[in-house]
Amino acid sequence: AVIAVTIERRAGETRVAAVPETVKKLIVAGFSVVIESGAGTAAAYPDADYQAAGAEIAKDAKAAIGKADILFKVRAPEAAEIAALKAGAIVVALLNPHMDKDALTALAAKGATGFAMEFVPRITRAQVMDALSSQANLAGYRAVIEAAEAYGRAMPMMMTAAGTVAAAKVFVMGVGVAGLQAIATARRLGAVVTATDVRPATKEQVESLGAKFLAVEDEEFKNAQTAGGYAKEMSAEYQAKQAALVSSHIAKQDIVITTALIPGRPAPKLVSAEQVASMRPGSILVDLAIEQGGNVVGAKLGEVAVTANGAKILGVANLPGRIATDASALYARNLMAFAGLLLDKEGKLAPDLEDEILKAALVTQGGKVVHPSLNS
Ligand code: NAD
Repeated sequence: AVIAVTIERRAGETRVAAVPETVKKLIVAGFSVVIESGAGTAAAYPDADYQAAGAEIAKDAKAAIGKADILFKVRAPEAAEIAALKAGAIVVALLNPHMDKDALTALAAKGATGFAMEFVPRITRAQVMDALSSQANLAGYRAVIEAAEAYGRAMPMMMTAAGTVAAAKVFVMGVGVAGLQAIATARRLGAVVTATDVRPATKEQVESLGAKFLAVEDEEFKNAQTAGGYAKEMSAEYQAKQAALVSSHIAKQDIVITTALIPGRPAPKLVSAEQVASMRPGSILVDLAIEQGGNVVGAKLGEVAVTANGAKILGVANLPGRIATDASALYARNLMAFAGLLLDKEGKLAPDLEDEILKAALVTQGGKVVHPSLNS
């Protein structure tokens, strides 16, 4: 079976869906790989390296896709790419299925079999394919780097002949994969770190990283985790109690990093305009949930919002794209593992759609959008 990888043409997307290392392994596994010339350039993977790994280089996206049984992408393919797909081709990407209905409709209309990497279930066998986690991990790291860069003070405490510089106080809201990495990174830089989440399991994780946990720990909090390991949407009452608790805390923080998400729902608003206004001049907020609507009131996608009190809210779009070489390498490994599910024992392309992982990730098939969570 032939896998094609093309340039990501969505604004600001620097990642690529295969790297030379995964190309080599995909070929060993029995695939052929066609790479559009320049597909890896923005992530620092030149054509020559793909070629050396055994890939064929195609002059443009159409030439690459025209040969392919499977199209690997980071983001959903563009209209021209969908038009170039062979009948019955498979598309695997971060399709953003809850938000980007147009891409799903277009894939379905073309008759493509579409898999959304976001829907890979969180079971042990699928961990190696968990693209949300691989990208969130790097996003959490990068958020701290962005904050440190924008912050006009130091992260660690420094004792100098000219006096002492205080350590930055960093507050991480939402302690999933991204939040944990943000805590670890901020700690490595020497900040004093606190964190909050609605899932009780996070308390111990926060403390094991040397940070302090802060949350309203009532009955609702004790039941806030779904069987799948995600957060539930909290009641207005809980959110109000939690907001009161964090208000006095935020006023004393230098950097706030928010990562709170609820699958299939807009991101919860965790930081109000008043709370932002309570921070001192030079404070930094980084909103990792900005692409799902944002956790911070006043955050703007792709912009730095400077508030009247001199705080900056960074609404950085696509944080993993700012660490594109590593983000591509990890995502490409996620896809490579996923590709293994598409072959039968003889190495022929024969995806078993009853397989738990494929079934969960399948979003378009036979001309229709098929995922149960998308048809309500
Ligand atoms: P996510 O990106 O969906 O959400 C980020 C965090 O925001 C979560 O921790 C969530 O609890 C939190 N949140 C939601 N609403 C909030 C609110 N109102 N206030 C504060 N925090 C709020 O989550 P994620 O990073 O993808 O992962 C969630 C959990 O799943 C983690 O514990 C992770 O370790 C676990 N996980 C398990 C597997 C597996 O078992 N294979 C794989 C990946 C992740």
